[in-house]
Amino acid sequence: MHAVAVVGGGAAGFFAAISAKEHVPDGHVVLLEKSQAVLSKVRVSGGGRCNVTHDLSEPRRLAKHYPRGGAFMRQALQQFGIVETVAWFQRAGVALKTEADGRMFPTTNDSGTIVDALTGAAKHLGVEVRSGSKATAVRQQDGHFELETSGGMVLARRLVIATGGSPKVQGLQWLQELGHHIVPPVPSLFTFDLPNDPVTALMGISVPHVRLRLPAQGIEREGPLLITHWGFSGPAVLWCSAWCARELHAANYTHPVHVNWCGTRSEEATALDMQQCRATAPDKSLGERPICGLPKRLWAHLVTKAGFSPRKPWRELGSAQEHKLIAVLTNDTYFVRGKTTFKEEFVTAGGIQLDQVSPLTLESKVVAGMHFAGEVLDIDGVTGGFNFQAAWTTGWLAGRAAALGG
Ligand SMILES: Cc1cc2nc3c(=O)[nH]c(=O)nc-3n(C[C@H](O)[C@H](O)[C@H](O)COP(=O)(O)OP(=O)(O)OC[C@H]3O[C@@H](n4cnc5c(N)ncnc54)[C@H](O)[C@@H]3O)c2cc1C
Repeated sequence: MHAVAVVGGGAAGFFAAISAKEHVPDGHVVLLEKSQAVLSKVRVSGGGRCNVTHDLSEPRRLAKHYPRGGAFMRQALQQFGIVETVAWFQRAGVALKTEADGRMFPTTNDSGTIVDALTGAAKHLGVEVRSGSKATAVRQQDGHFELETSGGMVLARRLVIATGGSPKVQGLQWLQELGHHIVPPVPSLFTFDLPNDPVTALMGISVPHVRLRLPAQGIEREGPLLITHWGFSGPAVLWCSAWCARELHAANYTHPVHVNWCGTRSEEATALDMQQCRATAPDKSLGERPICGLPKRLWAHLVTKAGFSPRKPWRELGSAQEHKLIAVLTNDTYFVRGKTTFKEEFVTAGGIQLDQVSPLTLESKVVAGMHFAGEVLDIDGVTGGFNFQAAWTTGWLAGRAAALGG
């Protein structure tokens, strides 16, 4: 009989198994992974660099980065947060560095460092890792669990379910049959498709401070925007996709988006910039003197979109024309038709409904002795290391509680 069986060999499952064994070294802990390779998402994460976490140690501020599960995470992070996570990796011999935007990576810039640290710690502690072992059903019998797996029956006093995000609700049916409510899964963290829009000819251009507005969803966000060959990407787009994951799914990813290319600058401030151009460089062409520091090619595109030639001299821009140009600059409308997966990081919103789980022990309120960790829960974050942090935090707490018996 195992003390703890962990189902799922991803970030959350490994952290749960390691935590269980660290808390009760004599207990037998088994980790079951259905595929042959463990930690495959960690390996490909962050473009191969693994964005482990984010340099934001205050749980209240950190929790604001979770469109779903923020309140739950705030409580969990108070038990095991960024400071504890960074300290654990340090003890495991992994030095982390913080980039200018707060994202934390291993100093090696190699996700293999994180995979090696987790597999090494599990081995050192004596966690039994069984790959190629898929859990298919579970029963509770005389105070323990009987787990049916592709490799035979596994008996355990406590279970940690860390099977990751499931794109379809059917993937979580075996947990639903035990009485758990499943919040229907939908994708989060994707980019916007603008098929046949001329702006895509400007692929590769990025603007550091735009303001994006999704009028139908009532949300706006400032931040960097990247023009790609299929549409819009970059942090501002990903942020909107995460916070409106359900609404955009309901809209079948077909919706308008407004862009203020001048970011936080008001129409009045932009008008002043234009007056200054007219006064200081009247003979220069519009195309030669971009407003708001925009890249020249994008500026020329917007001038053309407003109906003017980029060769037109500034002195010839009348006030009605100026208004037209300001309207395009500050409220440029696009029609999104479809989404594309963001290759660096994507997650599933939805999963086990959080009011059925304790945020301190991650134990199910429906099935005593069963704990959850990671993306299987209805928790997901924006980009920046927040999704792995959810895996480390919930994995650690679930493993500890499972080992200590609740
Ligand atoms: C390409 C990509 C890059 C990413 N980069 C980052 C990043 O840099 N930073 C960040 O914070 N987040 C990143 N994420 C998100 C992050 O990877 C996930 O949020 C995180 O891996 C979730 O961990 P998990 O352990 O809950 O699930 P998973 O990593 O999905 O692990 C679940 C495991 O359970 C196994 N499993 C499922 N069902 C069973 C079963 N019945 N029996 C046995 N095993 C089972 C699966 O095979 C899988 O190995 C990225 C995601 C992707 C797709």
